[in-house]
Amino acid sequence: MSISGPGNDSEAEFYAREGDKVRCSLCPHSCLIADRRRGLCGVRENRDGKLYSLIFGLASSMHPDPIEKKPLFHFLPGSTSMSFGSIGCNLFCMHCQNFEISRARLGDLPLQHITPAEVVSMAKDSGSKSISWTYNEPTIWHEFTTLASKAAHEAGLKTVYVTNGYIQEAPLRELKGVIDAMNIDVKGFREEFYKSVCGGRLEAVLRACEISVELGIHVELTYLIIPEHNDSEKELTEFSRWVVSKLGRGVPVHFSAFHPDYKMTNIPRTPDKTLAKAYDIARNEGVEFVYLGNVFAGEKDDTYCPKCGTKVIDRDGFWVRSTILKGSRCGKCGADLNLVI
Ligand code: SF4
Repeated sequence: MSISGPGNDSEAEFYAREGDKVRCSLCPHSCLIADRRRGLCGVRENRDGKLYSLIFGLASSMHPDPIEKKPLFHFLPGSTSMSFGSIGCNLFCMHCQNFEISRARLGDLPLQHITPAEVVSMAKDSGSKSISWTYNEPTIWHEFTTLASKAAHEAGLKTVYVTNGYIQEAPLRELKGVIDAMNIDVKGFREEFYKSVCGGRLEAVLRACEISVELGIHVELTYLIIPEHNDSEKELTEFSRWVVSKLGRGVPVHFSAFHPDYKMTNIPRTPDKTLAKAYDIARNEGVEFVYLGNVFAGEKDDTYCPKCGTKVIDRDGFWVRSTILKGSRCGKCGADLNLVI
């Protein structure tokens, strides 16, 4: 492992030549990139008609985290996940809470060269059961995350994406059997919000969620509630109905509290009563596992059996205090909890 400046480049996947330009087909932006220029994510560059990933094996952050921090509450609960991030992002959220790395360009931050073998050995040394690609958007790190994830599988580790879901169908389908679990951000439920606040399209994210479930990937969703922006009863109801009808009532939903950050420092924190309203709406619409995050959640970060109501996982923030489970099922009535143990 070594400290790096720019230069750990590798030919990218998912692009085609169009004259002296290249069209990247990794995410829905489909950037048409002129020679010596980069796509919107800032980490894929056209050089003489070839597209290169500029961040192959370059990490900005590496840390063993509780899996609950991703957040994933139904995937290896109580375990540690060795977590890695690089730089860049393909969305442009005005409220980004990781903007120091998501908006960083090559040369802005010290980056470390890592290899798939080092990813595996760091995970093993930290006692992790999984590796997570997180902190920045893993989609735009595709070539390295998929290669290192395959190495992780060979070593008996599970693999996780914490993602904005802004990925085209072909590269997403390539994650089948490579990525075991995802936490996907659904940042709002109106196209206008995605366009004006995030610089992307809601429809593409929803489709990616649906395909991920179809591929057999364990999916949990995070919806960060921003006051006056994506917190209306109508929007939260429509979101919850979509979860139930398109993904399944057993897909866990994490409503997360906003705090002022980046270009949204003039918006107040999410009031507790708004979070409680979102929780109730989702439960009333039939979402079986709803959680509150970024806030003192009381009992709203615990897991209850949807059949008999038993509290099956008691949490304190990111920590699992106790469980009443029989394998991955409710320890009292045996109901399915959409849980991977
Ligand atoms: S991954 Fe980057 S270069 Fe490719 S389409 Fe998306 S933003 Fe553009």
